[in-house]
Amino acid sequence: MNKLQTLEDYFGHKTFRPLQEEVVDAILNKEDVLMILPTGGGKSLCYQLPTLLMKGVTVVVSPLLALMHDQVVALRANGISAAMLSSMQDLEESQKIEAQLQRGEIKLLYVAPERLTNAYFLNMLHGLNINFFVIDEAHCVSEWGHEFRENYRRLSLLKEQFATTPIAAFTATATNAVEEDIASNLGLNSPKRVRGSLFRENLTIHARHRIKDGREQLLEFLKNHQGESGIIYTLSRKSTESVAHFLQGKGIEAKAYHAGLPTPEKNATYADFVADRVQIVVATIAFGMGIDKSNIRFVVHMTLPKTLENFYQEIGRAGRDGLESETLLLFSAQDIVQQKMFIEDLPETPYKQHAFNKLDSMVRFANSENCRHQSIAAYFDDRIEACKEKCDNCTTTESEKVDITTASRMLLSTILRTEQKFGLHYVIDVLKGSKEQRVLQNGHDTLSVYGIGDEYNKAQWMTIGDKLLELGAVQIGEFKVYKLTPFGVEVIKGSHTIDLKKERLTVQKAKAKRKVTFFDDYNAEIYDRLRELRREIASEKGIPPYIVFSDKTLKDMSVKQPENKEAMLEVHGIGEVKFERYGEAFLGIFQNR
Ligand code: ADP
Repeated sequence: MNKLQTLEDYFGHKTFRPLQEEVVDAILNKEDVLMILPTGGGKSLCYQLPTLLMKGVTVVVSPLLALMHDQVVALRANGISAAMLSSMQDLEESQKIEAQLQRGEIKLLYVAPERLTNAYFLNMLHGLNINFFVIDEAHCVSEWGHEFRENYRRLSLLKEQFATTPIAAFTATATNAVEEDIASNLGLNSPKRVRGSLFRENLTIHARHRIKDGREQLLEFLKNHQGESGIIYTLSRKSTESVAHFLQGKGIEAKAYHAGLPTPEKNATYADFVADRVQIVVATIAFGMGIDKSNIRFVVHMTLPKTLENFYQEIGRAGRDGLESETLLLFSAQDIVQQKMFIEDLPETPYKQHAFNKLDSMVRFANSENCRHQSIAAYFDDRIEACKEKCDNCTTTESEKVDITTASRMLLSTILRTEQKFGLHYVIDVLKGSKEQRVLQNGHDTLSVYGIGDEYNKAQWMTIGDKLLELGAVQIGEFKVYKLTPFGVEVIKGSHTIDLKKERLTVQKAKAKRKVTFFDDYNAEIYDRLRELRREIASEKGIPPYIVFSDKTLKDMSVKQPENKEAMLEVHGIGEVKFERYGEAFLGIFQNR
């Protein structure tokens, strides 16, 4: 069988995506490969397809059980024999897989990295006909990456023990330094390097200053995503629960997920999410790696992530199916202070400074008025054009700014008049003429600045305070006391103009819902029926719905409305194997009408 035939029969795709064929050819040529391609770019196919054209077994090293499990299920759904060996299996089961391996019945074997340090396992591998090794999430090899894993370091033994077996390494994110680390730590032999653009054009990125706890902003955002799947990231375990609770109170289906929950509950939430029974998961970053759900339509961060690597990877979970998806980052100056405190608590190692630098990059990104996509690409040593329409910065105009020079001077003066001994809330209370006991007892109702801050409400003043913190006009001392910096003193004297994006002072009314680019004329009613059928089949078979068919496939089907096999094979993502399994059931919907 040739490449294109295999692509169509087993994967249901008519053409390769850019760069896929290059990697497939290199692998068939027995070359080492190092591929960097964003999430959703189609890396799996690059090693799965050549495997089908080779005689032996391909050994895939992957860091997470859940990830491996999903891959194996997806492969089997496409009629490809795959298995995984993990510590979760009992002896009998692993012996069964071993026997199958020895009989050459398995094409793809997924293993955790620690397996490869097991002498018994290595010995068995030596007895097999191995096509090549795959290192998935290869950035875990590098200490400069954001997810270094000790047991990935030992993968250097592959080239030592299997000198003639090629290695193909894959990752979604790697700076040049990380790329070099991967190549040298794995001992790759002048590998074929293939680097895709990091630009995820189906993601629209927004970053906003959080107003209070951000919940109003969150609700506005969710109005545009009713009935869609999404993840909301928060910082603490407690906040996952309170945000989930808040959403439930608004009639929005949401569940909390964090490392502290009992395992059965976590598993149930994960399963419900994957099966589209729960639309929204509110989670700490414990939820994420290993989620291979292709129809996540949005990702929200309620606070600032630690690094841009984390951020890029987390938003990357949206839109793996290539359909339009939206991300929202809410952050405030307090987040920065908090993240810095976390880092302060770390022991004094070179890593500590590294962590500060990474946080700085994240903060610069959040505050930046440059194209978001371009900023991310630049961080990963990639140069791209501004996106023009896929981020907030490219779509807001200069006229959307307000001058807050006078307000800034008022706020700074109030900090000065109250002798730089109070936090921001107190200072604003004075500005707003609060009758609060504390203010009166301190005699601050007699200050000339008392009650001059009518123009803005408290939340708006907090935002102005944030802006002054970002600009370095104030700094936060012990007990969250606000103090002026030399620059702040200059601002009081009136030597600087300060402006602010207008939207930061208001929660904007959500814009009209954007159209889906690909299948924007899909038939919503039929699509719903198709989804219903998919859910039934999925639960019958005990597999996630997207493994039956992707959203994209169902949307295309709702337009083409195939009434026979021939027409069904024209639908996006349906090949012979898939048709065999599910074709008839779906044809039923169109034939019976
Ligand atoms: P990655 O591992 O890079 O994150 P995946 O391998 O999960 O990406 O692929 C993402 C999506 O792209 C999947 O839904 C897959 O079916 C689809 N895909 C991959 N290759 C092709 C192709 N050549 N044509 C159309 N869709 C493809």
